Parts: sequence; C-alpha cells; structure tokens
Amino acid sequence: PSFEGLGLSDHALKAVARLGYALPTPVQAQAIPEVLAGRDVMAAAQTGTGKTAAFLLPTLDALPHARRGQGPLMLVLTPTRELAQQIEDVATTVCAETHHRVTVVVGGLSYEPQRQALKRGVDLLVATPGRLIDLIEQGACDLSRVEVLVLDEADRMLDMGFLPDMRKIVARCPDERQTLLFSATLDDHVLDNTKALVRDPARIEI
Ligand code: AMP
Repeated sequence: PSFEGLGLSDHALKAVARLGYALPTPVQAQAIPEVLAGRDVMAAAQTGTGKTAAFLLPTLDALPHARRGQGPLMLVLTPTRELAQQIEDVATTVCAETHHRVTVVVGGLSYEPQRQALKRGVDLLVATPGRLIDLIEQGACDLSRVEVLVLDEADRMLDMGFLPDMRKIVARCPDERQTLLFSATLDDHVLDNTKALVRDPARIEI
C-alpha cells in the first residue's frame, strides 16, 4: 500500500513528504484508515514501528484550530519526557502543513513557560501524566474541548503507576471523543485497565 491509497488529505501527504517517508509501515497501513473513519483504535505496536505518524497523520488535518486561551483539541499522553520530545518532532513537521500549534508539557522543566503556552491557546498538547495533572489542578489546562485522545505506550504508563492519573485526565475529556491507544502488548493487564477508556475499538496487531 501507498500513503496516497490510505485516504490521507493533501496536507497530510505533504507532511509525509516533509518527513521523508516513502511507504507506510504496517501499523500506519492498518491504523490510518480506521482513524480516518473515526473509529477508536487499540494497536499493539512498539517504539520504532512508526506509530507516531500513525496517530498524527490522519488526525491533525481534520482538527479545528483552538482560539486564543482555549484548551487543546488533541491530547497525546505519553510516559516520558524523551518520548514526548520525539512526538513533538514529528508533530512540528505535520503542524507546519496543517497550521496547528503544538505544546509539550513534561516534568523536570519549569511550570511558567508551560502555563504561558497553554494560555496562548494550543491545538495539540503532548504531555506526560504527572505534569499534566499538576497543571490541571492549578487551573492552567482545560481538556473540555479534546476531540482526539492518544494514549501512547499505555503499557509503560501502567507500569510506571500512572493509571490513577490517566483516569483523572480521561475524566476531564469529553465522552464524545476519538481515543487511540498504542501499547507494546495488549495483554489482559493492559486490556482490563484500559477497556473503559475506548469505545468499540478497531484492534490492530502487527
Ligand atoms: P515511532 O515508532 O513513531 O517512534 O517511529 C520510529 C521511527 O521510524 C522514527 O524515526 C520515524 O522517523 C521512522 N518512520 C516512521 N514511519 C516511517 C515510514 N513510513 N517510513 C520510514 N520511516 C518511518
């Protein structure tokens, strides 16, 4: 399959060219049509499989733009600062085509620039759970407009003890949303703890 054959928009295809990808990886080929169809997805895919583009390419171009001071329309939760920065790199390239603003909030950095960025308005927020909870509790981040929620490396977030934070964060997002979950494995432990967060998901195993 080609990227063109997956149904991606012109902007998304231009982003593919900017990223330098020639052909979709298996997780991209399977997930992109489901995401474009509006379905929730649960995909068993590890780092290095191309899962980042699998959730950014089919979502961003259709996403509206937040007004000044409005909270994110898309939220990507990921377990570590390093993963958040890798996602930001791909997101910055895609957002250059779709004119969305991306903000990263992670632990270990000072709060004020993150609060300021959220105040200006953000379309795509990439966050680690602990820092996002802090900002929510400070009243600095409103998730009531989230249309697409991505749970990246869900198994690692569970292993790191983030389940209570994940639940609190998801509870702040609208019930009417699209949820995309990626995990190295989809074993019973992952499924039991996340099945309430997705709705009739397309299951993808590569
Ligand atoms: P990820 O699994 O999202 O962390 O991506 C792993 C690596 O694969 C990144 O360095 C991407 O730049 C690269 N990558 C993702 N999709 C493709 C593709 N379709 N063709 C070539 N490289 C890709």
